[in-house]
Amino acid sequence: MAARTAIITGAARGIGAGVAKRMAAEGYSVAVVDLDEASAQCCADEITAAGGAAVAIGADVSDEAAAQAAVDQTAERLGPPLVLVNNAGIIRDNLLFKMTIADWDAVMAVHLRGAFLMSRAAQVHMTAAKWGRIINLSSTSALGNRGQANYAAAKAGVQGFTKTLAIELGRFGVTVNAIAPGFIETDMTRATAARIGVDFEDFKKAVIAEVPVARGGTPDDIAHAASFFASEGAGFVSGQVLYVAGGPKA
Ligand code: NAP
Repeated sequence: MAARTAIITGAARGIGAGVAKRMAAEGYSVAVVDLDEASAQCCADEITAAGGAAVAIGADVSDEAAAQAAVDQTAERLGPPLVLVNNAGIIRDNLLFKMTIADWDAVMAVHLRGAFLMSRAAQVHMTAAKWGRIINLSSTSALGNRGQANYAAAKAGVQGFTKTLAIELGRFGVTVNAIAPGFIETDMTRATAARIGVDFEDFKKAVIAEVPVARGGTPDDIAHAASFFASEGAGFVSGQVLYVAGGPKA
C-alpha cells in the first residue's frame, strides 16, 4: 500500500489518540485534529517521537470553515487524506425533563454536523483518488441509554449517516463504516461516573459485571477495529456497524 494520510478528529486524547497512534504505527501520516491545538500537539509529538509522521491541527469540527480548513491543511502538509476517522465527541447528559436546548444542540453539532462537515470536505480527495475509508464513531448508546437522549439520538444518527454515505460513495472506491464501542476507559466515561456521583472504580466494576469478556474496553480495542476498516482487505465491507463491546449486547 502506498503511503497514505489519515485524519483522526478528537485525537488529542482517549480513543482518538489510540487510533491516531495505531494508524501512525501502521505507516499512515496522521493529522491529529482536536479543538485545542496544543493538546493535539502532545499526541502528534508522541507519534513523531516513536518514528511516525503526524501534524497537529486545531479545529472545531462542527464549524464549517474550520472543518474545511482542517482538511485543506492536512492535504497541504501531509498529502490528500484518504482515511477519515470521525471520532470527536462530547456528552451533555441529563434526563429529558432537565435537558436544555443547549445540551441537545451541542451534542448534535459535534457528532452529527461534525461528521457531516468533515466527511463532505474529505470525500473530495477520496473520490479523486478512487480510494477512501471513512470510519465513524457510534456507540452502544445508540440502542438507548438513560440520561443520554441527545447522545443516543446522535449516535443512532451516525449509523444512518454511515449507511447512506456507504451507498453514495461505494462506486468511488470509498467504504464507510461505523464502530459502536461499549464501555471504554477514557475521560468521557470518567465524566459519566462523576455526573452520577459514583466513584470511577465502582462505576467500572458495575459496568464490567455485565460485560461477557469480563473487562472494560481500551482505546486500543477501538484502534484495532478502525485499523481493520481502514485496511486494503476490508474493501468489500461497507455500511456496517461493528459493536466493540466485549459481548453481543450493549
Ligand atoms: P474523550 O476522551 O472525551 O475525547 C474526545 C475528544 O474530542 C477530546 O479531545 C475533545 O477535545 C475532542 N472534541 C470535542 N469536541 C470537539 C470538536 N467540536 N471538534 C474537535 N474535537 C472535539 O472521548 P472518548 O471517550 O475518547 O470518545 C471518543 C469517541 O468515541 C466519541 O465520539 C465518543 O462519543 C465515542 N464513544 C466513547 C465511548 C467510551 O466509553 N469512552 C463509548 C462509545 C462511544 P477537548 O478535550 O478539547 O474537549
